Amino acid sequence: MTDASAAKDAMAGTGDLVVLKNVNKHFGALHVLQDIDLTITRGEVVVVIGPSGSGKSTLCRTINRLETVDSGDISIDGRPLPQEGKALARLRADVGMVFQSFNLFAHKTVLENVMLGQIKVRKTGKQAAEDKARALLDRVGVGTQADKYPAQLSGGQQQRVAIARALAMDPKVMLFDEPTSALDPEMINEVLEVMQQLARDGMTMIVVTHEMGFARSAANRVVFMADGRIVEEAAPDQFFSNPRSDRAKDFLSKIL
Ligand code: ADP
Ligand code: MG
Repeated sequence: MTDASAAKDAMAGTGDLVVLKNVNKHFGALHVLQDIDLTITRGEVVVVIGPSGSGKSTLCRTINRLETVDSGDISIDGRPLPQEGKALARLRADVGMVFQSFNLFAHKTVLENVMLGQIKVRKTGKQAAEDKARALLDRVGVGTQADKYPAQLSGGQQQRVAIARALAMDPKVMLFDEPTSALDPEMINEVLEVMQQLARDGMTMIVVTHEMGFARSAANRVVFMADGRIVEEAAPDQFFSNPRSDRAKDFLSKIL
């Protein structure tokens, strides 16, 4: 084990934060999540990889209840996912989500994008929300863009704003669903670096990505999915150098 992964592992493992037990989900006849058991501990960084259509996005979307499940249990920090209302809004704030398409509010400035949820969901006062938004925008390297509209920013900058917006809610866990897939190549690293820093700061993260460099350096664990199942889970070094299943070997031979 490398020093870096030893340090990562020392930070992880102080209690279960996200727990999925025997989760099943269908879209019509398609069994998109099959008997998913997955536990993420506080401070852990889990990278989810697998072929297109294997259920990675659906997995993320069930964790903040953008999708319902057919059976099984999901809990965050010891509490079952709420079904509706204010409790659901709070859950969504506790589970920060960053998508492939940045999903910023186009008619709001960058600053307003990062203030809005704090005011509406967390009931933070306006000045405190602005102070926090500015600090977070600085942290992700776009502090000077605060008064612009999203369309005036590059893709990499917009995605960093989306990360700041999620962080503004003080989430317990951050979900990233292919956050760099829609970016021009030269912008990928600026987003991955923000995510790396977040991981080093101890954020619990579930990251769907095909960026294997990120997986190797930031992940405590790689979860490999295929056809709606978790086929294999391992430490990144082990997974990349010695995948056990034929599905994983085949997948890696195509992307590496
Ligand atoms: P991945 O993110 O791994 O590419 P997804 O979770 O997006 O996979 O999709 C898994 C499967 O479920 C795919 O076959 C996809 O076409 C299907 N699917 C996803 N969302 C829906 C939906 N809302 N309705 C019907 N089928 C869907
Ligand atoms: Mg997907």
